[in-house]
Amino acid sequence: MSTKKPARKTAAKSAKRVQAAKPAKAAKATRAASKPVRKPVARPLQKPAARGPGIEAVRSVNELMAYAYALEIEASERYAEFAEVMEAHNNREVAELFRKLARIEHKHAEQILEEMGWTSPPKPPSTGYRWETPEGPETGDVTDLHYLMQPYHALQIALHNEKRAEKFFAGLVKKASAASVRKAAIEFTEEEAEHVRLVEEWLARTPKPAKDWAHDPDPPAYHD
Ligand code: ZN
Repeated sequence: MSTKKPARKTAAKSAKRVQAAKPAKAAKATRAASKPVRKPVARPLQKPAARGPGIEAVRSVNELMAYAYALEIEASERYAEFAEVMEAHNNREVAELFRKLARIEHKHAEQILEEMGWTSPPKPPSTGYRWETPEGPETGDVTDLHYLMQPYHALQIALHNEKRAEKFFAGLVKKASAASVRKAAIEFTEEEAEHVRLVEEWLARTPKPAKDWAHDPDPPAYHD
């Protein structure tokens, strides 16, 4: 029955909201499992405001690797949140798929730490990460979730994210002035292109949803 309007908030505040919402998860899950809500399913994860005008240039390989790490971690955390949302709505198959994607992205992040010999996550730049989009380029958009979504839809989200990540690194290749940065950015671009290809293959062996996939024979009841 709540009609409160979401107030405008800073990225930091909205990030806090997401975390604050987590402890209530268990209770929410039980409630939602018996009665699914209508789309869009994941209101708590609101988008933060755009963080900056974008990256003019990445000056060092270290900085580039910090960006790459942040991108992978943010993607991984978001997929894990998506999995929780799907679990709360009893959509186990898609929850499982999002968990798998979260694990894959987390592995990518760990590989970056390993490659750099970093024992802890890199500090963000003093200006914060300056993505060209409100969030990291590989981070899923919560408004694309639907409680009846199928693995095919989840993989389309992943495909979109991988394509954005590829574009992000390709953009850095163009902007890089140092040869070492350009070389590393080229490697990431190629890696993301490979991810795009892998997700496309995965999609090709995933059943396409029927036209009426969003039809719920027992829709949620409302009392407002
Ligand atoms: Zn990727």
